Order: sequence, then structure tokens, then C-alpha cells
Amino acid sequence: QADLSEDRTVLYDKATFVDPDNNLALMSELRDALRTNEVSLHYQPKRKTSDGTTASVEALCRWHHPVRGRIGPDLFIPIAEQTGQIRALTEWSIVKAIEDQAAMRARGVHIAIALNVSGRLLVDQAFRTRALQLIEGCDADLIFEITETAVIENPKIAAQAIAAYRAAGVRISIDDYGAGLSSLSYLKMLNADELKIDRSLILDVVESARDRLIIKSTVDLAHGLGMTVVSEGVETAEVFDTLAALGCDTIQGYWVSRPLPFADLVDFMLRSDAE
Ligand code: C2E
Ligand code: CA
Ligand code: CA
Ligand code: CA
Repeated sequence: QADLSEDRTVLYDKATFVDPDNNLALMSELRDALRTNEVSLHYQPKRKTSDGTTASVEALCRWHHPVRGRIGPDLFIPIAEQTGQIRALTEWSIVKAIEDQAAMRARGVHIAIALNVSGRLLVDQAFRTRALQLIEGCDADLIFEITETAVIENPKIAAQAIAAYRAAGVRISIDDYGAGLSSLSYLKMLNADELKIDRSLILDVVESARDRLIIKSTVDLAHGLGMTVVSEGVETAEVFDTLAALGCDTIQGYWVSRPLPFADLVDFMLRSDAE
């Protein structure tokens, strides 16, 4: 099984991170990092419970800083959000994912790629225009996982953006469902294709009948609304089997695979294709 320690990329000292000058320096470096391939996308498979095939893969960004070492997204994404650089990073990730998807297609592997798009960007008109430009005209198969839905202040614009992305063939996933307090209102507000149950909700699912009831009700609700359900952060066979029995369509987590560098993803896909 996968080595649980290997993907922990949060190695950067927290104390230096709270220093605003240091953050500023880091953020000016991020701009260059996107150009010089210091940032890369790793891909984590989502496995279908029905037949074990890979439904899609989630792109997760990794920053290999030449001096500071590996910096995890948990640390630099929030800063990029604050400084507005999340837009450049997300546009870069769209370009990169389309490129990687085409490269895999050339090797006979077709797989949808899910990208993390923050609630703030979902309602950003300039981002929408650019994203649609990048997507239209190349037959990309993309999913936008909408993260930090809590920051969506304009449901009307969010709904319009979702309609525009879906018209362009992009599927929409509501990320980290159940992590916030008012998740139900996002179901009302966002017309999505996939519901992604947050890891915090599935941690005790094997032991707790109460937690199983919560998952089961969520699965039924999502299915009733025409969405597929994916659970994230699944680390054991017991949790995998329990979630499959509760009707989860797709499962993601270290039990299936760690996030993989592109070359390893191609191997993973070719191997699972052959099975
Ligand atoms: P997320 O979207 O909820 O992604 C899932 C996180 O859980 C990832 O952390 C993944 O590596 C980790 N994970 C996967 N399987 C397991 C498991 O079985 N057990 C445990 N304990 N963890 C697991 P990562 O890669 O550090 O990313 C953290 C967050 O940073 C992501 O949370 C996402 O919100 C954000 N992020 C990552 N890449 C990007 C990006 O390119 N753009 C944006 N906007 N956000 C990103
Ligand atoms: Ca995600
Ligand atoms: Ca998530
Ligand atoms: Ca999560």
C-alpha cells in the first residue's frame, strides 16, 4: 500500500510563514515559479466502486522551491488567494492539465481531470472569460472542483458561471461538502454534477452508525439531485468498503493511490487498464 508519509509536503516552517515580508517574497517568487516549472501538478485517481475503473483524476499542485524545498498547497494556496495570484495559478493549471490530458490521449489513455477552483474565482468575470477561452476549441474533459464555497457572496453570478462552464463541457463538483456549517444551501445554490464528501465526515464511518446515517442520507440526497458522490481521504479497505456499501459512486484517497507525478499517473492508468 501507499506510503502515507511521502506525500506530506508541508515542510515549510510555519514561523517564517506568518512573517508578512516573507510571504510577499514568496509570492513574487510564485510568479516566476509558474514559468520555470518549479510548480507541477500531481494527480490523484478517483476510483469507481462499481467496477474499479478510474472515473477521473484530481490535479493537486506542488511547489518544489530550489532553496526552500517542497512547499505544500495548504500553505501557499491561502496566501495566493489573499494576494490574487490564485488566478494566475489556476489559469496555469488549466493549461497544464489540458496539455497533460492530450499527452495521455496520445498514449491511448483517456481520463477526465478535476481542477480546484476557489469560490472567489468562480464569481470572477475576468477569470471566467479567460478559462472559457482556454477550454473552448480543444476537446478537454475537465471537472471544476469548487472549493471554499463559503466565500461565495453572489449566488446569482455563481449560478451563471456554472451554467457557462457546463455549456462549455466542464463538469462541476462541490468540494469539501460537509466541512462547513451551511453546506445544504450550496446544494440549493450550485447546480453541480458531483458532490465531494469531506474527509472529516468519513473518519468514523466504520465505527459510528450515526455517521453512516449521515453519509447515507447525503448520498441519497445527492443522487436524488442527479449528482454522483465521491468520498475523499479514504485510507483503509474498511472505510472504502463501508462507503461503497452506502452508495458512494467514487472513492479517492491513499488507499486507492497517493497523488502521483504525471509519469507515474500514466503508468498507473496503463496498469489499471490492463487489469
Ligand atoms: P482538497 O481539494 O480537499 O484536496 C485533498 C487533499 O487531501 C490533498 O492535499 C491530498 O493530497 C490529500 N489527501 C488525499 N488522499 C488522502 C488521504 O487518504 N488521507 C489524507 N489524510 N489526505 C489525503 P494537498 O495536495 O496538500 O492539497 C490541500 C488543499 O490545497 C486541497 O484540498 C485544495 O483545496 C488545495 N489545492 C491543491 N492544489 C490546488 C490547486 O492547484 N488549486 C487550488 N485552488 N487549490 C489547490
Ligand atoms: Ca479538491
Ligand atoms: Ca476536497
Ligand atoms: Ca478536504
